[in-house]
Amino acid sequence: MIKEVQIRITLKEEEISDILVLKSAIKLGIDKSDITGIKILRKSIDARKPKIIFNYKVAVYIREVVPKTSEYQFDYKDINSAKPIHIIGFGPAGMYAALRCIELGFKPIVLERGKNVQDRRRDLRAINQDHFINEDSNYCFGEGGAGTYSDGKLYTRSLKRGDVRRIFENLVFHGATEQILIDAHPHIGTNKLPKVVQNIRETILNYGGEIHFETRVTDFILKNSAIQAIQLNGEEEMSVEKVILATGHSARDIFYLLHKKQIAVEAKSFAMGVRVEHPQHIIDSIQYHCSGERHELLPAASYSLVQQVNDRGVYSFCMCPGGFIVPAATANGEVVVNGMSPSKRNNLYANSGIVVEIDVNKDLPKYEHFGALKGLEYQKNLEKLAFTSGGRSQVAPAQRLTDFVEGRLSSNLNPTSYQPGLNIAPLHSLLPKLIGSRLRKGFQAFGQKMKGYYTEEANIVGVESRTSSPVCIPRTETLAHPQISNLFPCGEGGGYAGGIVSAAMDGERCAEAATNTF
Ligand code: FAD
Repeated sequence: MIKEVQIRITLKEEEISDILVLKSAIKLGIDKSDITGIKILRKSIDARKPKIIFNYKVAVYIREVVPKTSEYQFDYKDINSAKPIHIIGFGPAGMYAALRCIELGFKPIVLERGKNVQDRRRDLRAINQDHFINEDSNYCFGEGGAGTYSDGKLYTRSLKRGDVRRIFENLVFHGATEQILIDAHPHIGTNKLPKVVQNIRETILNYGGEIHFETRVTDFILKNSAIQAIQLNGEEEMSVEKVILATGHSARDIFYLLHKKQIAVEAKSFAMGVRVEHPQHIIDSIQYHCSGERHELLPAASYSLVQQVNDRGVYSFCMCPGGFIVPAATANGEVVVNGMSPSKRNNLYANSGIVVEIDVNKDLPKYEHFGALKGLEYQKNLEKLAFTSGGRSQVAPAQRLTDFVEGRLSSNLNPTSYQPGLNIAPLHSLLPKLIGSRLRKGFQAFGQKMKGYYTEEANIVGVESRTSSPVCIPRTETLAHPQISNLFPCGEGGGYAGGIVSAAMDGERCAEAATNTF
């Protein structure tokens, strides 16, 4: 017999090794020896009150063996001589589109401008140390896309768009920890992601798929409202039948190309702001109500904040406890910051994007002449501003949080995890009012919600500009572009995802849609 129970455990009890068995037995009124196994289904921490509680949902096996099976079987087929589906971009959307094609009996041919995960590492080092950005291989471009050297948080709000559990089980199948199937806020960590991505590559190649690295798609050759061929690296052409376009939100050249060829793209609302960095112990002490170090059984604390300011949302985005701020620009001449953390989340700093919603229909009157690309041009300008005010390298402009809110230049900055370094800048006067004034009020409100958050021990770092795509590539109910019958816009670049999991789910959906039209 199997019974599911909810169990609450205090910090002290969590140290007892068979506490789940003991508590399950008491809850079910059975003898401890009748329990043959326990499977944790869900684990979360409730730290709202000083007495911290671990909430568990467990399946209790009573005189029954615990099975080892997963809910999903991945039925990959030999697709060496199957019909091809061309997939542009090998981020989460492209990877999951390719895997789904193989399950459905089609051959994915992936074109990826960047390098494989190993070779990509050298280019990341060059950004951090030499301030040089390889425009095809960086934190956003390369094998695994923006998801590889990301934080690897697997939260998604888009539960309706697909089956989250299926995505998680596939990550576990490819080497991610089973813990992601249990945790309320699953996280893989930047140190573990490259291996998972590499395993996905091997599955695709082993079953007969193709992956072409350092192959940038530079043109679409159209005939009768369909893509007949794609141009690679500005040279050779490759004939195609169905194209899944999963190039992510940083592939500006793709947006320009579509616009130039009069293939419809639309302006989309998005969000921009800064990244704030606190010492982790400050966030721990606020969230865990402690004065010294957090208890060793507790993970680095996180937070999620939102405040409405003058009709626009100001909110925390991609919060990375125990993490690093990283340079996420995709071209020289711009500075973009983002965040990541290792699986143990054991770095000394907590960072988070704090961004302001931008309504492209109301907020950018001076950019109207750019039409569908107005949000993109606004985003570009902010990134250039960060580049010049940082000192024309990957050094980022920064200010103490309290100085930013109170409108004065900082005389010095707090230590940081951002490797290229920080330059003191008057972000309070440099950022457009639309963003800067809302951020200042937002931070004050956050200080009210989390006592101790508003502190001179925090820095803000500019700019956090790639939270979501400022452009949407439209698609119909069949997921094809309304003008181009064999083009399937996919993932974050199309405007259909906002993170690893939702991009992966959209990749699967696009693979199903594209293979369905043969
Ligand atoms: P992308 O991952 O952007 O992939 C697009 C791919 O297309 C890239 O590999 C690119 O090289 C390729 N490409 C672009 N143009 C071309 C072309 N012309 N020809 C060929 N290939 C091309 N999300 C989370 O859910 N959790 C997190 O913790 C998280 N942390 C992040 C941390 C960092 C530092 C960054 C940068 C992002 C983070 N994200 C996180 C966001 C997440 O990575 C993206 O939402 C996700 O990767 C989007 O997936 P995608 O496949 O749609 O696009």
